[in-house]
Amino acid sequence: MDDHARQSTVRPARQRGIIIDMEKTNLKALSEEDMREYVSELGLPGYRAKQILKWIYEKGASNISEITELSKPLRESLAEKAYISSLKVADRRQSADGTVKFLFELEDGNCVESVLIPDEKRLTLCISSQVGCAMACGFCLTGKGGLKRNLKAYEIADQVIAAMRGAAPDRITNIVLMGMGEPLNNLEEVAEALWRITRLIKVTARRVTVSTCGVADKMLELPKVAPQVNLAVSLNATTDEVRDRVMPVNRKYPLKVLLEACRNYPLQKRRRITFEYVMLDHVNDTTEDAQRLVKIARQVPSKINLIPFNEFEGCEYKSPSEERVLEFQAVLQDAGVTALIRKSKGSEILAACGQLSARAGAYSSS
Ligand code: SF4
Repeated sequence: MDDHARQSTVRPARQRGIIIDMEKTNLKALSEEDMREYVSELGLPGYRAKQILKWIYEKGASNISEITELSKPLRESLAEKAYISSLKVADRRQSADGTVKFLFELEDGNCVESVLIPDEKRLTLCISSQVGCAMACGFCLTGKGGLKRNLKAYEIADQVIAAMRGAAPDRITNIVLMGMGEPLNNLEEVAEALWRITRLIKVTARRVTVSTCGVADKMLELPKVAPQVNLAVSLNATTDEVRDRVMPVNRKYPLKVLLEACRNYPLQKRRRITFEYVMLDHVNDTTEDAQRLVKIARQVPSKINLIPFNEFEGCEYKSPSEERVLEFQAVLQDAGVTALIRKSKGSEILAACGQLSARAGAYSSS
């Protein structure tokens, strides 16, 4: 993402509704531009802004006293006027397959979840972009609770810092915005968060993926503010009839509109859109579905992740048999479509795809 793109989308902290404590300023809430302005207001040279940001984002400083590149008297006088917020780890659960689910408490008492998923060579962190979600996908526990509020950029990026601290000595290799919330419904803060994650925390942009349920008009805004990151589209049906039922967003952006946006999406060289396909027993898992999915995949440079549904209490959908999933995959593969089965991890701690809820109840059973 270049500086120009960033500067054109990010408004100053006060305009973006970031609460700056009446007495103390939260340094983590400040963008690079805000920080430059802030250090200048304090009469400090401009390079201090870069130093402070480096210590907060790259070195994970959670207290001004840890920024030892600043002299002790400077740290002390800064600490009188400012502080660095940190997500509070309200809970941390680890499943037998190594998946770790964090429940993070925000400064206002709301909670969000992030999930750390180890794979053979990768350590993927799935982060949230909103508290709850308004999109009400039928197979998703987050969607059942509705939207509480958007996350601020620093609250999104802070999930990475907090998980890195918790994951040490492992290094997180991939980030996916696939946790609670629809990232494109909070695009301004998500764009700023992506900038901080890639430029300040220094996660390679090619290893960052933004997942949408199909907000077609905003999809085309994403590459303007975050041109290097990957796009995943949660597809989950091959007809409007089924998709309307499973994902209410389809009533506003039906498959035709969504696929047109996918075709127009400006992909970088050798990149593909990932279609996520949560497989629901006797809903979207027929051979005809697989054949229609082949046609869809041929319209767009893409690969398909087949995710057998993770059942949870109170949900009407069931997981298909393993045999059905393999048959479905075979139809795709025989047609030359890249289709991987992604078995969700961490289901016994409700950390699998579609199982995040950030409710205390979600923690009481494990
Ligand atoms: S699947 Fe994603 S977009 Fe749909 S309700 Fe759940 S969190 Fe929201």
